[in-house]
Amino acid sequence: MITTKVLSVPSAKAPFEKTTIERRELRPNDILIDIKYSGICHSDIHSAFGEWGGGIFPMVPGHEIAGIVEAVGSEVTKYVVGDRVGVGCFVDSCGACEYCLSGEEQYCTKGVINTYNGLDYDGNPTYGGYSQQIVVTEGFVVRIPDSLELDVASPLLCAGITTYSPLKHWNIGPGKKVAIVGMGGLGHVAIQFAHAMGAEVTVLSRSNNKQEEALKFGADHYFATSDPDTFAELAGRFDLILNTVSANLNVDAYLSLLRINGTLVNVGAPAEPDHYHVFSLIMGRRSIAGSLVGGIRETQEMLDFAAEHGIAPMIEVIRAEQVEESYERVLKSDVRYRFVIDISTL
Ligand code: NAP
Ligand code: ZN
Repeated sequence: MITTKVLSVPSAKAPFEKTTIERRELRPNDILIDIKYSGICHSDIHSAFGEWGGGIFPMVPGHEIAGIVEAVGSEVTKYVVGDRVGVGCFVDSCGACEYCLSGEEQYCTKGVINTYNGLDYDGNPTYGGYSQQIVVTEGFVVRIPDSLELDVASPLLCAGITTYSPLKHWNIGPGKKVAIVGMGGLGHVAIQFAHAMGAEVTVLSRSNNKQEEALKFGADHYFATSDPDTFAELAGRFDLILNTVSANLNVDAYLSLLRINGTLVNVGAPAEPDHYHVFSLIMGRRSIAGSLVGGIRETQEMLDFAAEHGIAPMIEVIRAEQVEESYERVLKSDVRYRFVIDISTL
């Protein structure tokens, strides 16, 4: 076994502890990654606080992992020691169902293995990226392009792919009007991707505080949802609304902003159910949808697209001791726009 340092939560909402865990010895197709940076996703907070139910504790969160290959198993062909690599939200899948075969492992019918807070096929709990090392089978590791710094790249492994994938799925490009709701970790990269894909991008944030940065990220328009005039002014405007908000919204109000045939895609994942009136859909043949991260092949495509188009998360690098205060700041939306843990401080 490989003993590695981690930041671990013993039980829901408990303070983080610096401790160690055991990673498995390398199997023939495994890669040992020396983790350099790990982003803090709002999903880490939902999970570590036990908000989604069924949390496996002790928990080592982190699914925005960027590091360097430290060792490879005897049959690894994709990577060599020293490569710059990333790991996102999942670390294995059955490999045989129709979704795995089509490169959408996140929807594996046998159940994808989450990077943390999951049970591996061998029955052992998985532990995530707030950790010095991780062992992952090579098929679930992606390559970080040379032009992306590892700290800046790490949030792309979840925030990046979670927003890139639905924008691609709903064919966002020139001529499409897209609204991004919530300008946090996911939202601020969604703006950059939608803009790079050629869409007309509108940001819907609660206040006017983030307007200047939204325009720098490529937004064409910015509206504060706290202003009651916003919903009247934007009625019937958008082909696609990408909702990245971690809390429940007034769904009917957002549906009213869609054009006929428009779609509201939820990636934000509040613990409580949403409510809406069916008439909000019927009257405009509108759709409500959801989307879960993205497959491995698409994650690589997203990283290459980000490198090509100069897309970069705006980050604040923190030390391991600052994780709790960072969680508090995320909950207050006091982050511009992603915290990333410097793993050398563990
Ligand atoms: P984040 O950085 O906290 O951003 C969320 C943003 O939502 C905030 O910056 C804020 O934007 C807005 N917001 C927060 N509370 C709100 C409220 N009560 N009412 C209205 N707006 C509010 O979080 P994140 O890391 O981007 O994650 C966002 C959500 O996506 C989380 O629920 C997370 O679990 C989920 N997620 C889902 C997937 C998936 O595969 N579907 C993957 C990753 C994350 P403004 O200040 O601009 O209003
Ligand atoms: Zn995430």
